[in-house]
Amino acid sequence: ELANRMAERAAVVVKTLMTMGTMVTINQTIDADTAQVVVEELGHTVKRVSDADVETDLTGPEDQADDLQSRAPIVTVMGHVDHGKTSLLDALRETDVVDKEAGGITQHIGAYQVTMASGAKISFVDTPGHEAFTAMRARGAELTDIVVLVVAADDGVMPQTIEAIRHAKAANVPIIVAINKIDKPGADPSRVRQELLNHEIQVESFGGDVMDVEVSAKKRINLEGLEETILLQAEILELKANPNRAAEGVVVEAKQERGRGNIATVMVQRGTLNIGDIFVVGSEWGRVRALVDDHGHHVKSAGPATPVEVLGLQGTPSAGDQMVVVESEAKAREVSEYRTNKSKAAKAAASGRGTLEELFSQIAAGVVKELPVVIKADVQGSIEALQGTFDKLTRDDVKVKVLHGAVGAINESDITLARASNALIIGFNVRANPQAREMAKRDGVDIRYYSIIYDAADDVKRMMTGLLDPVY
Ligand code: GDP
Repeated sequence: ELANRMAERAAVVVKTLMTMGTMVTINQTIDADTAQVVVEELGHTVKRVSDADVETDLTGPEDQADDLQSRAPIVTVMGHVDHGKTSLLDALRETDVVDKEAGGITQHIGAYQVTMASGAKISFVDTPGHEAFTAMRARGAELTDIVVLVVAADDGVMPQTIEAIRHAKAANVPIIVAINKIDKPGADPSRVRQELLNHEIQVESFGGDVMDVEVSAKKRINLEGLEETILLQAEILELKANPNRAAEGVVVEAKQERGRGNIATVMVQRGTLNIGDIFVVGSEWGRVRALVDDHGHHVKSAGPATPVEVLGLQGTPSAGDQMVVVESEAKAREVSEYRTNKSKAAKAAASGRGTLEELFSQIAAGVVKELPVVIKADVQGSIEALQGTFDKLTRDDVKVKVLHGAVGAINESDITLARASNALIIGFNVRANPQAREMAKRDGVDIRYYSIIYDAADDVKRMMTGLLDPVY
């Protein structure tokens, strides 16, 4: 690459490096300082480009208000296990009018779009639960516009319901409550509404602003009502995107398939993705060879909020990776190589110090005003006592924000939440389970254990002044 840019033969560059005492092969990456010496040695002029330059000129200019058009909402379904998330996603999918007309076969590609009789569209992420949602958010992908929280009317609010609420709130995504299984004899929707009050979800009939809908996924009751409610919420959010620009999107799912190669399901966020487009996705790149929609039809292009399978990748990206269309293959290669190197560097750094340290120094510098924490404790009383103590520590410039407080051991969900929100985890008279411990180590999430409120308060106070270093 370096030789190409100078219009020199690669062998000449390698030879020059060797005379400088650097033994490299033609495919090896060299650092910027070495590159500069070689370039000057060969009589060329160096123009250094900063890291930021590589990323920023990637996305192009901001969209003007005039270019924006309404787009479909992107919805993720969350809730406790067995409350009917999968059943609801399947039932909603069958309300699609296009599906019936075109005679396409349902393809599970990780996301799908429903067109209603009115012509309105809604896109659904087909992986229910907050794990996928938060894992994506931890990668920087803000894909979901609306969370549909499924609560079984015969079971009520359960631990994962509460987790889902915390995850959605941490991401600042509005919630619509779907009270499911109303066909069941033991169904008690008003109890669900009542219980939600304890978790900062106040539905409209209780004077709040959260919309709720009673449904039955199994008996297909009121699915249209739920869809209307989603559209209503979408209208409030005024979701817009510019379809007439180079596409950007997020990988929802990626895999390798025999005969088809690397395939990624991408939810387009803005612009329109076309066959032939060259793109970068994560640290991979490619050229769109074919686009396949959620009915298995080949399509020529995909606009905002449309999920589509993309063929023509050089490697397999990860869910949550950002896809950006670029103008040339050279640019795609450059960015993908840059990102590969960066992720290698990030991995090396993660084994040392992580992001909480940055947070502390930002707090100390007055850049950040909140210290997010997740509290897990042995009894509810301890959570309340800790919360009360933290409230008292609040100063004008910094406050403690409790993202989630629950009784029980620290689990994987706590780690993903803390990671996505860059939060500290406090275990009060509880420990982390082995999987969570492993995850925390890998992701550089700071867990601290206490059995005395005063000790916890003391540490948090010192973190707020930026005096305490994180431990991993
Ligand atoms: P998930 O774990 O949240 O994805 O839940 P599932 O969709 O797998 O549903 C769990 C169980 O509840 C299954 O046996 C479903 O058939 C049943 N179920 C889902 N929705 C309803 C409903 O509206 N009414 C009744 N009676 N059962 C339902």
